[in-house]
Amino acid sequence: MDFIVRQLSSRPDTALVRYDCPCGCKPGAEYHQGSEETGHEHCCCGNVHFVGPGARRELESYLADRRSQGMDVNRGAYRIEESSLDDPWGGRLAIAFGAPEHPGHE
Ligand SMILES: [Zn+2]
Ligand SMILES: [Zn+2]
Repeated sequence: MDFIVRQLSSRPDTALVRYDCPCGCKPGAEYHQGSEETGHEHCCCGNVHFVGPGARRELESYLADRRSQGMDVNRGAYRIEESSLDDPWGGRLAIAFGAPEHPGHE
């Protein structure tokens, strides 16, 4: 997936990481400069991305939590991709992206 990092002009300590999803949505997750907290968005089609430190770990535990609540069962297994991009403040931003085997609404 091709991600775009954009610094918010109204809040320069915030980066928005988004992509053009095949379903037509433009999911965006926010990350705050220096934060240990990840941001994420779960798209209507099942694709989900996390940004920030430990993005992959957070994504995996998020998906496992949903599984344990009986969610996503029709979506099959998730394939996870990791990447990183330059953040607006001279560092790198970790991104984890999960795509279900069977995309679509629950
Ligand atoms: Zn959508
Ligand atoms: Zn989507």
